[in-house]
Parts: sequence; C-alpha cells; structure tokens
Amino acid sequence: MAFARNIAIFTISVSFLTFVAFFGRLPALRNTPIGFLHRLLAIHIPRALRVIDICFTDGRITGGTSRLGYHLMYESHPLVLIFFLGLITASTALFVPSVWPYLPLHHKLLIPVILALPYLFTYLSARRNTEGCITASNHASQMRHYPYDRILYYPGNHCRTCKFLKPARSKHCSICNTCVARADHHCIWVNNCLGRGNYRWFLALLLSTGVMIAYGAYVAYIVLTPLVRHHYIQYEPWYRYRNYPTNGALWENFDTKLHKFVTCASIALDVGGLCLSGVGLLALLTWPLPLALLAYHVYLIWAGMTTNESAKWADWRDDMNDGVVFLGLRKEEAVEHAKRQPKTGNLDAEEPPTTWPLQSRHIIIRTMDGKPPLNIPSRIKNVAKESSFERCWSLNEVENVYDLGFWENFLEAMR
Ligand SMILES: [Zn+2]
Ligand SMILES: [Zn+2]
Repeated sequence: MAFARNIAIFTISVSFLTFVAFFGRLPALRNTPIGFLHRLLAIHIPRALRVIDICFTDGRITGGTSRLGYHLMYESHPLVLIFFLGLITASTALFVPSVWPYLPLHHKLLIPVILALPYLFTYLSARRNTEGCITASNHASQMRHYPYDRILYYPGNHCRTCKFLKPARSKHCSICNTCVARADHHCIWVNNCLGRGNYRWFLALLLSTGVMIAYGAYVAYIVLTPLVRHHYIQYEPWYRYRNYPTNGALWENFDTKLHKFVTCASIALDVGGLCLSGVGLLALLTWPLPLALLAYHVYLIWAGMTTNESAKWADWRDDMNDGVVFLGLRKEEAVEHAKRQPKTGNLDAEEPPTTWPLQSRHIIIRTMDGKPPLNIPSRIKNVAKESSFERCWSLNEVENVYDLGFWENFLEAMR
C-alpha cells in the first residue's frame, strides 16, 4: 500500500507541476493562482536562490543552472521533444503488452492507429516549416496575407535580423532565427515555431495526444475493473458494513465513497503493478492537459488571435484598465483606399494590397500620463481622423480585424 501511495503522490505532483508549466505562462491566466504559482516557480524562487548563492559561492551554482535554464527555454534543442517521445514510447512499451491479452479484437485494431497519430503529428509540427518561415523568395506573397491593423501591427517595421519589412501578424523568432508568418508561439515541445503552415498540425497533435492518453486511461479502467472487483471483498471486509450509510449524512457518504475510491485505486496499483496501473494512473491524471491546451487554442481561434497576439491584447487590456488608452478612427479615405487597392497592386509597397476581406477602422494609442494625446506620431496622424481620440476602457470597444467569426477563423487556421 505504501508503494501504491508513493506512486500516486508522485504522479499527482508531476501532473500538477506539468499543468502549471503548461498553463502558467498563458496571458489569460496571468492574474490567477496558476499564473502566480508559475511566476513563483519560474521567477521569484530562482531569484531568491540566486541572492543566497551570491552570498555563499559568489553565484557559481546558480550561474551554471541559469545557463542550463536559458539553454532549455531560449535555445534550440530537442530535449523536451525527446522526453515526450521517450515518455509515450516507454509508457506504450510497458502498458500495451500488459493489457493486450485481456482486450477484445476491436481494441486491438484501434490501438495501433491511436498510438501512431501523435508520432505523425509530432513529425509534421517539428519538421521545417517552409510555408511559415518568411524568406526573401516568399516575402512578397507573405506581405499580402494580412493587412496592418494599426493596433497590434504597424506598417514600415523592419526585422533587423532578416532585413525585410515585417508582414502583419509575423514575429521574428530568435531561437529559430527566422521571421514566422502568423506566428503563434515557439513551442519547446516540438522544438519549432508554430505559425502559418504548421499550426494545424500542432492542434492535431494536441487532440491526438489527449485522445491517446484518455483512451489509455479507459483501457486501463476496463481491464482493471474485473480484477479489482475480484479482490475487493478480500481486501476490504470493513467496507461491506459501511456500504449503505444508515443516517445518509453527506459527509459520511462522501467519506465512504472516498474510502472506496482510495481502496480501489490501491488494489488496482497492487494487482496491476507499475506497467498497467502506474501508466493507467498517469494517463488518468494527464489526459486533460493536452485537451485543456487544445481548448485554449480553440478559444484563441474563436477570438481571432494567436498566442502572440493574446499577449499583446492582454497588455492593451491592462493599459485600458489604467485609463491611458485612447481609441481613434481611421480616415475613411484611408480605409476605402486600402479596400479598393487592386489585388495586383504595387507588391513592393510598404503596405501592399492584401487578400484579407476586412480593413481596420480603429487606431488605439497609449499616453504616458493618461491625458488625451496631443503629440500624435506622424505614422498615426497621417491615417487617423483629427481629434477623434476618446478614452477607451475596454477591449470590447476595439475592432479585431483578424476576427472573421469562429468558422472562418477556424478554416483560416487550418489552411
Ligand atoms: Zn526576422
Ligand atoms: Zn521559433
């Protein structure tokens, strides 16, 4: 029982820390306990350890570990990818042989398919993304995908490394050393940038991994249930007298159910061992992780933004809460001009015509002192209506030109 309890505690702890590592960085969770815990683990505790280390060893220990941490987080390496593939390969190698004799034929046919898909989508997400990497040869066509909204993206910005104009919605990744079209984020899981061309494979990877893990937990459940039921009466005669609480009190009922669950889990770990029950428990605790991350990306698609843009919108929202953001309207002729530009217009222009169906009508600016803007930069002044700026308190007042509605956004992300 002690062994079973240790496995359970270890698995729950690893699952929880993985959850915090996965989700704590998301802008949507910035002001939640998960975001706080992530900052505590990733920033505050390392900083405190560094102060202590500087006092005692002149920073030698934390210097080495921070270089390692920097390498893991901000340099190109396949360690997380290898860990992920190693974990699912090892879990599969332990789990499948131990459940195989108990399974009916349809599960035996289904298992190879469900196991193969995460490997396939990992490969498709991790390989070089020729469609999303912006190069000199595809730069002109990349400039024509999205208009500059003058909220998150302005025309005329050059990438200092790649030496060309940054297309709207693109971002330079210093790890991949390239500008990425419709940049979502650099994913250390697949050691690649996710953007135009491979974002859909990443979504497929999340879905297939979540389904595979949930399926593993289900298979463990159907194989273990008869074994646990068989052992149950032997292990826990006490339960037979507690099965139906006489007074029906809520707590006693809960206590009985909890006791039954813990007993069953312990029996399952004893009869199934590490191969079946250990992997099954790991699957039971971790299947929501990829699916929750997938749900977050479905939310991003619904909202018409990338992970990169969600951070920019979150910054605007924080500034709006501080009352330092002003919303103005673009000159109608500027919007109409952008709409009317022929599809074959000047492709070398700073702001070439795009195939995107919407044009931004809004401009927002922040002021340092929270007072209405007086000295408006010329790049804004040229396209904004004079004296149209009013204080903006909420993101709901601002148009997101990249949001075409959920279905269109979804098709666009899948393309
Ligand atoms: Zn670049
Ligand atoms: Zn990258």
